Amino acid sequence: MTPAWIETLDAADPLAPLRREFLLPDGLIYLDGNSLGPLPRRTPEILRRVVEEEWGDDLISSWADNDWIGLPQRVGDKIARLIGARPGEVVAADSVSVNLFKLLAAALSLRPDRRKILFEAESFPTDLYMAEGLVDLLSRGRDGSAAAYRLQRCSHEKILDEVDEDTAVVCLNHIHYRTGYLHDLAQMTAAAREHGALVLWDLAHSAGTMPLGLNDAGVELAVGCGYKFLNGGPGCPGFLYLAKPLQEAARQPLQGWMGHADPFAFEGSYRPSADLSRFLCGTPPILGLVALEAGCDLVLKADLGQARRKARRLGDLFLDLVDGLDPALGLEVACPRDADRRGSQVCLRHPHAHAVMPELIRRGVVGDFRPPDILRFGLSPLVLRYRDISRAVEVLEAVVRAQVPPE
Ligand SMILES: *Cc1c(COP(=O)(O)O)cnc(C)c1O
Repeated sequence: MTPAWIETLDAADPLAPLRREFLLPDGLIYLDGNSLGPLPRRTPEILRRVVEEEWGDDLISSWADNDWIGLPQRVGDKIARLIGARPGEVVAADSVSVNLFKLLAAALSLRPDRRKILFEAESFPTDLYMAEGLVDLLSRGRDGSAAAYRLQRCSHEKILDEVDEDTAVVCLNHIHYRTGYLHDLAQMTAAAREHGALVLWDLAHSAGTMPLGLNDAGVELAVGCGYKFLNGGPGCPGFLYLAKPLQEAARQPLQGWMGHADPFAFEGSYRPSADLSRFLCGTPPILGLVALEAGCDLVLKADLGQARRKARRLGDLFLDLVDGLDPALGLEVACPRDADRRGSQVCLRHPHAHAVMPELIRRGVVGDFRPPDILRFGLSPLVLRYRDISRAVEVLEAVVRAQVPPE
């Protein structure tokens, strides 16, 4: 039975109608939209039409007649509206990893005299791996190669202290994937810019859950994910954002034909396109882009200010309910308690987390386990009800209690 006060919260929720725009299995409490967003109700029909009619009937002419060729920019412009950017500042393409590689290389090309790349030590690993690969590539075969670029890792609390006149770029995860820690986008960007350094933001866990106001915050470079809170489906493209004033000078090394000034002239040498299309590489994955567009269209129906307020309340409710549990259960809050510093997720620590999560999932509460001992719960504000949170904590209590031997 859901307590009446929780039902009151749901009854007053202005975003409640959006839940019906998703297809969710009956009875499932899905707290993993930050790993794979749920399926929008309209997506299967849109994909069916594109496959059967555009691919099946129209075939090759679809590139022009159904504007497949313009999809990376068209979807990019929709994402731009979601993240507070102008048209022409976002393209949907490739994975987050590849986009990070391209933008990191671009950042270095924009600060040619600087040698230091600063990373949060706790960054999502692929971001660090891609940076290591780029540094390795740029250093190979040069005199004094090891010193060509320096990749320096710091904790997120200290990273601003390390920004200096040799720093080309600072790479930050806007919301930390494990702890849910949320950076202040505008303040961090401004602080790094005081030293002339660029900031490259990874928005994988924030795009689609809150107003980001990238232009207003002075953000110049960012990447983000399509299959998390934008609900674009497994493996759909991510996106990259590059502020207009930087676009003309920025170069990236993955110079594929889709980034050429005139791809269908088949010239023998690369000439970058005049606009952000130069950050495209190969043939766009049309089905993934179509699904991503449907996901973005759904998020565009939401007021993201309301979404942010709701995600904060869902998180506060989750933590309040956990605080009310028996301390002997051994659950510890592992995310920021301050909702201003917490993204759309909560995390708890428990010594048996690896066993607790599979049992939660078996009982219809889907979150995920992150080693060594973290239980992570994504709080998609467009999908979830307050009653889902209350039920999830009830099930969590029962599962954890079963793990603790009675005294
Ligand atoms: C999910 C996620 C990614 C995913 O990268 P892909 O290349 O799309 O697999 C990257 N960075 C962060 C911070 C993420 O949360």
